[in-house]
Amino acid sequence: MIYLDYNATTPIAPEVLETMMPYLTKEWGNPSSGYRFGAKLKQAVNHAREQVASLAGTEPDHVVFTSCATEANNAAIRAALASAPTKKHLITSRVEHSSVLAMCKKLESSGWTVTYMPVHPNGCLSVQEVEKAITDNTALVSLIWGNNETGVLFPTAEIANLCRDRGVLFHTDAVQVPGKVAIDVSALGADFVTMSAHKLYGPKGCGALIARSELLEDPLLFGGHQEAGRRGGTENVAGIVGFGKAAELASKGIEDRASRVGALRHAFESRVLTEISGTWLNGLGAERLPNTTNIGFQGVNSDAMVTFLDAHDICVSSGSACLASSLSPSHVVFAMTGSHDKARQSIRFGLCHLTSEAELGQVIDKLKLAVTALRQR
Ligand code: PLP
Repeated sequence: MIYLDYNATTPIAPEVLETMMPYLTKEWGNPSSGYRFGAKLKQAVNHAREQVASLAGTEPDHVVFTSCATEANNAAIRAALASAPTKKHLITSRVEHSSVLAMCKKLESSGWTVTYMPVHPNGCLSVQEVEKAITDNTALVSLIWGNNETGVLFPTAEIANLCRDRGVLFHTDAVQVPGKVAIDVSALGADFVTMSAHKLYGPKGCGALIARSELLEDPLLFGGHQEAGRRGGTENVAGIVGFGKAAELASKGIEDRASRVGALRHAFESRVLTEISGTWLNGLGAERLPNTTNIGFQGVNSDAMVTFLDAHDICVSSGSACLASSLSPSHVVFAMTGSHDKARQSIRFGLCHLTSEAELGQVIDKLKLAVTALRQR
């Protein structure tokens, strides 16, 4: 199998699994227990908190472990709105992950006003337009950092500065960024940052919301006193420990990894764009995550392409994995191009440090076959 969908998920790194194993076997206590067999696990959880904080560039006590990034995105929006109770407007973009968009749709049906910022054809958005959209009624700006479908990086530092100057809370869904690009959440000054373990060679079912405690007036889940009272529920100790180890590994050699993967990505997309006619790059000219490329194939239905490549043991996707079963065109490519056809004809390729040039060569050969077989004239 050739796996080129590392934005959907990643395998658990062997070192991560090794670190998790004791907590799936002999160390099965409850960290909230009064005796040492359980209570000692708090140290493991807090060590993981330090490792995740170190990767993100934040204080350990700003890290709240969650069940996934979807929970963290939902919780960040809820917490921001709760801490600005008189304000009824929020700003997001048309290219967010469904965990933000679906939450915003729900809020609209409950009387909130949401501005969905458009993006330029290259997938980026204008800070000046975000500034114009902010009103005295704006409680929150919530914008993705690195797009999961195209890899396009929003000017997150500039947006964070703008929000700080205007006294508006700022949340960024950073799920795709840590480990691919170095980040420093403290320097960034965002109020809420979302992360997920399974995008960086950690386990599924574990995420984090980074936020100062005073912004989390209500716990994420009402219940026990876990996570310093910020989220009830017995901790997923093995998952959290795995997240910590994955974060530690991800923080090493980011630049080397990014330049190696970036070079592979560049060579791959250059070959596809020159050797296969009727192709285009979604995100051309924008600053992007080094591992991601999103390429359109004129006249080729992307779901048919995914199925064709799957039959050749190649994994790619036609959009976000969370929406893959919906068979709807990519809302991200549609927001960039205004074209339903382009949104239905685009494929996301997510590379990683495990990807080889030889694998990419085989994928290009199969793409050529796929285009010949599937292109409608
Ligand atoms: N945000 C982005 C940008 C993502 O890519 C994903 C995963 O696809 C999520 C949020 C949701 O992550 P999780 O699967 O941990 O809920």
